[in-house]
Amino acid sequence: MAAGLAENMAMAEIIPAGAAERPVPTRPRVYTREEWGARRARKPTKIVERMPDRIVVHHTATPNTTNYSLEHAYRLSRDIQRFHMRHRGWNDTGQHLTISRGGHVMEGRDSSLSAILAGRHAIGAQARRHNDHTIGIENEGNYKKAPVPELLWSSLVTVCTWLCAEYQLDPDRAIVGHRDLGDTECPGDALYSRLPELRKSVSARLPRPDGASESNLERMSTSLNPEVADTPTHVPSSVVPSPEILGALPSPGESGG
Ligand SMILES: [Zn+2]
Repeated sequence: MAAGLAENMAMAEIIPAGAAERPVPTRPRVYTREEWGARRARKPTKIVERMPDRIVVHHTATPNTTNYSLEHAYRLSRDIQRFHMRHRGWNDTGQHLTISRGGHVMEGRDSSLSAILAGRHAIGAQARRHNDHTIGIENEGNYKKAPVPELLWSSLVTVCTWLCAEYQLDPDRAIVGHRDLGDTECPGDALYSRLPELRKSVSARLPRPDGASESNLERMSTSLNPEVADTPTHVPSSVVPSPEILGALPSPGESGG
C-alpha cells in the first residue's frame, strides 16, 4: 500500500487544523508502517470524523525481552500484525500504536498516525465494544508482576501527552487500562497500578488541563465492531510462546492471510 503510506508520511508534515490554538507537546518519533515493514491491510481502515475519548493501555503479554533495539521493535510490530491477521482473522494490526521495551514507538493499524494528526479516529480492534471511541497502545512485555522498563515508561508518558493534546483529553479521565473496559487482566497488575502516576505525569506535561468537552467524554457508545473477536487484542503468551517462534513463520506478504 505504497500510496497510503506515502500519504501517511506526507500527513506527518502537515500541521492539523486548529493546531495553532491548542498546545501540542513534543510529538514522539513514531516509526511508520513502511519503516517496520507492515504488510498490506485486508481492508482500508475506517476513519471517523470525531476524536476518541479514551486512551487504552495494553500489554502484549509477550516475553520481557532485554533486546531494546529498533530492529527488535520492528520485528515486534510485524509479529503482532501477523498474529492479528492470521490467528485473529482481523483486517490488520488491532492497536493504533505499539511501544517496545526499548521505548520505540510504532504505528499500528494503517492510517492511525494520519488520523491522530488530523483530529480524527481510526477504528481499531483492541477493546471489544469500545473500538469506536478508544485509541489503543500496546506496550511490549508482560506486566503481571514485572516492572515496566524506564525507556518504555518514558515513551508511554510522551505518547499519552501527545494524544491528550491532539485530542484535547483530560488524562485523569481519558487514560484507562484495558481491564477497565473488558474482562481481561491486561495490562497486568504492575502496569495497571502505575496508571495514576501516568495520568499525573501527563497532566504535568500538558500546558494546561484543557480537557475535552463533557459531551465528548461522556459519549460511551456500545456499538459492536464485528471484526473484533471475544479475545483481547494483545498476544497471550499461552497461544504465542515467544516472538522467536513467531519469527519462524513465513515472512508477511507471501500469502493473502
Ligand atoms: Zn489489552
